[in-house]
Amino acid sequence: APHSLRILVTGGAGFIGSALVRHLIRDTAHEVLNVDKLTYAGNLASLDPIANSPRYAFLQGDICDTAAMTAAIAEFRPQVITHLAAESHVDRSIDGPAEFIQTNIVGTFSMLSAALDYWKGLDDEEKAVFRFHHISTDEVFGTLADDGFFTEETPYDPHSPYSASKASSDHLVRAWHDTYGLPVIVTNCSNNYGPYHYPEKLIPLVILKALADETLPVYGKGLNVRDWLFVEDHARALTSVFEKGVIGESYIIGGRAEKTNIDVVRSICETLDRVRPRADGKKYEEQIGYVTDRPGHDHRYAIDPSKLERELGWKAQESFASGIERTVTWYLDNETWWRPLVEQQAVKRVGLGN
Ligand code: NAD
Repeated sequence: APHSLRILVTGGAGFIGSALVRHLIRDTAHEVLNVDKLTYAGNLASLDPIANSPRYAFLQGDICDTAAMTAAIAEFRPQVITHLAAESHVDRSIDGPAEFIQTNIVGTFSMLSAALDYWKGLDDEEKAVFRFHHISTDEVFGTLADDGFFTEETPYDPHSPYSASKASSDHLVRAWHDTYGLPVIVTNCSNNYGPYHYPEKLIPLVILKALADETLPVYGKGLNVRDWLFVEDHARALTSVFEKGVIGESYIIGGRAEKTNIDVVRSICETLDRVRPRADGKKYEEQIGYVTDRPGHDHRYAIDPSKLERELGWKAQESFASGIERTVTWYLDNETWWRPLVEQQAVKRVGLGN
């Protein structure tokens, strides 16, 4: 891969997008244009650590606005488009699926149209370098019994409006490769966690509710299993994939860290007991309560990331224990980041689970 690439990141003000942009600016020589609409989930404060870099620029824009995307691409002339912009919260997709259809499906179509137009106008050498990297989720594969793993060959079987919209977008991206020859790569990743995670998602919500002395309302019995990956490991995986991955292929990304939801909540409670014990001497675990499970709640997601490990030499570096400790510590140290989000009361969550 060339030493320095121009990379257009959509959704770079979100949780994973901002981790990717921070990684690209700090640890590589690539140049980044971050295109983000700044919905409730987008937060430019997550980019403060790198915002002054001459290799970083921001453009506020909607991926559904094809004319604006076409103009941005024509001006920046990206060699890679990493497409992360999406509506990402399963509970919100159940209450209001329209936004998910619009952003995740129509928005991806719009990005593909703009990218294809641009790609067709490149010379052969530029064409060979260009790639459209679509970032997706393991939730498109549906649910697993207590054994087995998702691989690149697992058939699609989405169950929630969120996962169905992401599955649709994955199919569109593959169709633009198979039909029009657009050089695409798809990655499907397991649940991410880490710093700068919007406080409606399971792990930050548990941390903040625990600190606020509120009940921790776990869905069902808390026995749903998810594979967890530290967000910085995902950012490194994405970089390996767009630098070295094979066009037309997909790669699934996971941390080999399967946990039940209740295990996740307990790990956070135990970490808090160590680093910020309750003043009254009680254990944080005593705050756990249970609420009715959400409809269509997939039982288990688990990932076999061998292809990525074998072919691209990537490996998760952060263990779940150390990643949780880093995450808890980050929330304790960065109240100025999360307090305004909690106060806007945008945080929407019925129960805890993932
Ligand atoms: P996020 O909700 O934190 O961030 C999404 C970002 O996209 C926000 O900055 C938002 O402003 C932006 N955005 C939304 N609609 C837009 C639009 N119409 N135009 C431009 N920007 C828009 O999401 P995330 O957790 O960082 O997830 C990023 C991507 O990774 C998504 O595609 C998601 O499906 C995928 N993914 C997430 C996880 C996870 O655990 N969070 C796991 C696997 C895959």
